Amino acid sequence: MKMIYTNENRFFVNNARNIVEAQGIETIVKNEFAAGASGDIAPFDTWLELWVIHDRDYKKAFDLIEQAFNDTHQTQWMCAKCNEQNEPAFDLCWSCGAERV
Ligand SMILES: [Zn+2]
Repeated sequence: MKMIYTNENRFFVNNARNIVEAQGIETIVKNEFAAGASGDIAPFDTWLELWVIHDRDYKKAFDLIEQAFNDTHQTQWMCAKCNEQNEPAFDLCWSCGAERV
């Protein structure tokens, strides 16, 4: 298994997972339940991590995510409901969940 993406915002990680799994690539998310755990866990350790099950899928999955998150032909959009900036790859506002209009 290889990790392909991590972010402190679980919404970003779940979006990345949707993008990759839509192409039939098997993934798992680690640290899903770590956030909020007690103890001395550093904030970074509780970031969600997206892993591909099969190493052979790594390159394809990585490219898909890079494409989705860094598409220069698209621009960020502002949520009509809460005015947050959203990445072009997302159809739902990361902050309030409102649909992109
Ligand atoms: Zn919003």
